[in-house]
Amino acid sequence: MDIDDTPVLDNHLHLDPVNGRNVAAAEEFASQGGTHLLVLNKPSWHLVEKATEAETFREVFDLTVEAATAASEVLDGCAWPVLGVHPALISKLVDDGYTPPEARDIMQTGLDVAAEYVDNGDALAMKSGRPHYDVDDAVWEASNAVMCHGFERAADVGCAIQLHTEGGEDFETVAGWAEDRGLDRMQVVKHYSGGRLRGPVKSVLADKDELEIAVETDEPFLMETDYIDDPDRPGAVLGPKTVPRRVRWLLENGHEDAVRTAHVETPADAYGIDTEATLER
Ligand SMILES: [Zn+2]
Repeated sequence: MDIDDTPVLDNHLHLDPVNGRNVAAAEEFASQGGTHLLVLNKPSWHLVEKATEAETFREVFDLTVEAATAASEVLDGCAWPVLGVHPALISKLVDDGYTPPEARDIMQTGLDVAAEYVDNGDALAMKSGRPHYDVDDAVWEASNAVMCHGFERAADVGCAIQLHTEGGEDFETVAGWAEDRGLDRMQVVKHYSGGRLRGPVKSVLADKDELEIAVETDEPFLMETDYIDDPDRPGAVLGPKTVPRRVRWLLENGHEDAVRTAHVETPADAYGIDTEATLER
């Protein structure tokens, strides 16, 4: 099997139509055999001064919807927007003088707007999570409330939710919180995951060592770069060519089944997308 025989999905990448390379990054992905993208909105503070109102979230989300539409045009497959609120927004808001409960409410408003886009068919999935760095108890509690609100809204509109969280391998409790709110754990995707994870579906950073672990573990998984499309930080993350390159490497090493898991089966089970039917070469 050759890379041209399979869809190739990067499960988490950012495109920035304001300051970044935007469509050029999608073209680079496509040039290496990439076919499908999930395009995440950038943290709202990167694009607008202050994301505190529903209207401000809409501005940020519209840019991502636009970027995904433009990316779709250069792909043999397609690009879907994934919208939500970066968990670190809570710290920005608290630094700006909001109390943790006030910050929580603002972020939940953002998630409500994201759910509205999914409900209207303008986005595929949502994004939430909790800080990956140490925070005080009040901020931690508010962050968990925001994430659980995300689970509720994702269950309401019937979509998956990507999580940005602290590192680690055991997120069984978090998956349980989602299930308590009516969301299947197959629709909870931990972004920036290592190869081993308990609880949600893992979206493994396209690092060879971690991918090898994911292949051995033989569970559902996705692959991502978390490309940030930020001209000021060119080497900060993996580039848009990385997922197709790793797919080629997996195929060379005989891991056809794992490629099918990460690029056909898990996308179907987590998001309800058909990466084969949406592929025209
Ligand atoms: Zn990201």
